[in-house]
Formats: sequence, structure tokens, C-alpha cells
Amino acid sequence: MILKTVFVFIFGTCVGSFLNVCIWRLPRNKSIITPRSFCPHCQTSIKGYDNIPLISYLALKGRCRDCGKRISPRYFIVELLTGMIFALFYFNYLLGNFPLGELFLYLLLASALIAITFIDFEHKMIPDRITYPGIVIGLLASLIIKHQAPFILSHIPRVDSLIDSSLGLLAGGGILWTIAILSRGGMGGGDIKLGAMIGAFLGWQPTLLTLLLAFFAGAVVGIILMLLKLFTSKSLKAAWRKRKEFIPFGPYLALATLAIILKGQAIMGWYFRIF
Ligand SMILES: [Zn+2]
Repeated sequence: MILKTVFVFIFGTCVGSFLNVCIWRLPRNKSIITPRSFCPHCQTSIKGYDNIPLISYLALKGRCRDCGKRISPRYFIVELLTGMIFALFYFNYLLGNFPLGELFLYLLLASALIAITFIDFEHKMIPDRITYPGIVIGLLASLIIKHQAPFILSHIPRVDSLIDSSLGLLAGGGILWTIAILSRGGMGGGDIKLGAMIGAFLGWQPTLLTLLLAFFAGAVVGIILMLLKLFTSKSLKAAWRKRKEFIPFGPYLALATLAIILKGQAIMGWYFRIF
């Protein structure tokens, strides 16, 4: 069991290595297939033995072998994070929290969310080249893999997976779209498509919970950051105007999605105990 989890972790770091390529290339409208990995500074292509996840970064002390310039720690962080998330999901599968089919679906979704989070942080945009295929994959996967977990509102009968997936797409995309209209620019088009993609993967019930959790987390962090900003700007109005600069919404959605997949029922129980 430990050996298998370690293997899945290593596999995850390899996926993370590919996600690093996507994170750098997708916002720059470059192909993610060709050419092979290269140093962002000197464009020298990276040799196979320098492309081992985690280990190469440590061995080269975060520098390019050819030009010696610093390589962003993001490369290491994404590989480690992806490996850890893969291991965590696999561990939950071993515990019987979801079946094998859903494990694959969740790993795919998590990979997309990791790439989106880091792109959104850096470029304040979410590429359609992830969300559009994501929506289609989420819908098609529901034909093969029955939605089961997280099974939250158990008194509502579960609908057919494809219908559930479509409802999730409409709920996730529709709610964020409505907020975008009402807030006039408070929510970007990329966020709407991301909501639709998450909905297509999870179905409507977990999607609603994900949105709630993302807003809650966004509000809490937003208030904390705004209070911190108050000490420097001394004006609440200026701080409120600047709130969009703080942090994009994509990462909240991504984090909330992973939390709902892994701990949906616990979060739901916690919510009902408080309110
Ligand atoms: Zn270089």
C-alpha cells in the first residue's frame, strides 16, 4: 500500500513536470507538444537526465545547466504539489472513499486545476485551451463513470450522470455568469468557463457546495488582505477598489473543488452544525 502510494506520488511529479510546460506555454499561445522542454532564459533544450522531476531541480540548485540563470521555484513547487495531490487522492481511493473510475476523473480534474491556479496567479487569466476541452471531457466521462462521491444531499434522489453533469455545467457556469453580469466586471469570463468545467466533472450538488466554499474562502481572505492593506492605504474605499488586484478567483475555485471532493461530507456536516 505504501509502495503503491509512493509510485503514484512519483507518477504525479511527472504529471507536474508536464503541467509546468503547460503553465509556461498556454498563456503564451505556444504548443505544449513541440518543441521539447527548454530553458526559458537561453532556450537551450533540456537534456533527459536534467528533466527528472524534483531531483533535477535540487541537483542543479534551481539553475540552468547551460546559462546558470535561476529557474523559477514554481517548477519544483508544481511537481511536489502534483505528486502530493495524486498521492492524497490515491490514498482516499484506497480507503474506499471513491471508486477507481472516479479516481481517474479526479486526477484529471486536479491536474487541470493546478495548471489553471498557477496560470491565473501569474497572468490573471484562465486559458480556454484548458476549460473548453475540460467541459467536453467532464460531460463525456459522465457517460462512462457514474457520479457517486461526494454524495452530499442524500435525501435528493441522484439523477443520471449525464444529466447530473449537464446540470452541474449549467449551475457552475450559470451562477458565475449571473454574478459577472450583476457585479459588472467582478468576475471574468475565464472564471465562468472554469465553473462550468468543474460542474461538468462533479455534477450539480458538489458544484453548488464548491461555489459556496470558494466564495466563503475568497471573502475571508479578501477581508484579511483588505484589513492589512488598510494599514498602508488608510482608506477603506481605496482598499475596496483595489480588491481585484489582490488575488484572482480561479485559485479559490480550484482549492474549493479539491476540498469538496476529499472532504465534502465533513464540510457539509460542519456547515449544518454552525448554521
Ligand atoms: Zn539556460
